[in-house]
Amino acid sequence: MRSFTHTGLPSRVVFGRGTLSALPAELDRLGIRRAVVLSTPPQEGHARHVAELIGPRAAGVLPMAVMHSPVDVSDAAVARAQEMEADGLVAVGGGSTIGLGKAIALRTDLPQVAVPTTYAGSEMTSILGETAGGEKRTIRSPKVLPETVIYDVDLTLGLPSALSATSGMNAIAHAVETLYAADGSPITTLMAEEAIRALATALPRIVEVPSDAEARGEALYGAWLCGACLGAVSMAVHHKLCHVLGGSFGLPHAETHTVILPHAAAYNRAQAPDAMARIARALGAGDAPGGLFDLAQRLRAPTSLAALGFREADLDRAAEIASREPYPNPRPIERGAIRDLLGNAFAGRRPGLAVA
Ligand code: NAD
Repeated sequence: MRSFTHTGLPSRVVFGRGTLSALPAELDRLGIRRAVVLSTPPQEGHARHVAELIGPRAAGVLPMAVMHSPVDVSDAAVARAQEMEADGLVAVGGGSTIGLGKAIALRTDLPQVAVPTTYAGSEMTSILGETAGGEKRTIRSPKVLPETVIYDVDLTLGLPSALSATSGMNAIAHAVETLYAADGSPITTLMAEEAIRALATALPRIVEVPSDAEARGEALYGAWLCGACLGAVSMAVHHKLCHVLGGSFGLPHAETHTVILPHAAAYNRAQAPDAMARIARALGAGDAPGGLFDLAQRLRAPTSLAALGFREADLDRAAEIASREPYPNPRPIERGAIRDLLGNAFAGRRPGLAVA
């Protein structure tokens, strides 16, 4: 007899090709008359295009988003949005831009439309990670969940191959940890397995031909499911390790997820056999951790912490920090075993079939 608790988050999703054209109608639905359009500096062109599309409904463009949502940037953006008398937000970009929209919404309660252009999945969660004084703080609040998400496959056609690969592996990491999450449900299990299947099928095609619209559509569909998983359950050892490596050692977000994922799966292999069977099936591989490693290699993505510039001398300290205040995980967190995991990830060793 199974028992579970599932909370569905209240957001509206519009998915397809050319769906950006629905933005004016979606703003009307939310009663937004003066939207500020957010982006990173390199994606200002995307934001200007969106502002043109919505014409008089655009209050202005703020190309201020940067990685890890620094609090001072968010505060400055709130002040600028207030000067513009904005009554809503449109975030066009990856997790950094959507993070800026969430940070403004947290402070102002303005309604948001997210238009994701990577596979990170932040648009489907009520989670915001903010940094101040070199420390990352994660909060969950219904205020930060975007009311509407417009997934337009066309906006992802230009996402470079390398970024598509690591962003896709970042999304798969959400689904992998969903399959052994302490608070998973039958719905999240179905979504997670389907998400891994969709992304594992699409990403190798995208790396070969980035403009393959059919593969892009399949990958974005998988990314949506992965984001919905992330929004519904608690993440485990993999995310703890990535938060430590990003927060305390400055490693890049999606690349770090790509390197750590096979090793985190290997860490949990014996304690999560059903999850491993589903991951392997979705990958079309004989073994989940090895299959995840092989997928990253096939995508020509980084497979070692050394390749990300991590210093071997920092492995002990990383293991020490990562073993403190552990996230719920199928296998208890033991510092020695975490140090072994990080050592394997540093060297880029393919996880073997032996029980870790
Ligand atoms: P990102 O948003 O930082 O984007 C990386 C780079 O790619 C940026 O320079 C961006 O301008 C560019 N880019 C994005 N889409 C593009 C496109 N289609 N074409 C060309 N260039 C494009 O990276 P990300 O991996 O999407 O997001 C990472 C951030 O999101 C991290 O800070 C992470 O903590 C956060 N995140 C938060 C959640 C959450 O639920 N709160 C979930 C996932 C990620």
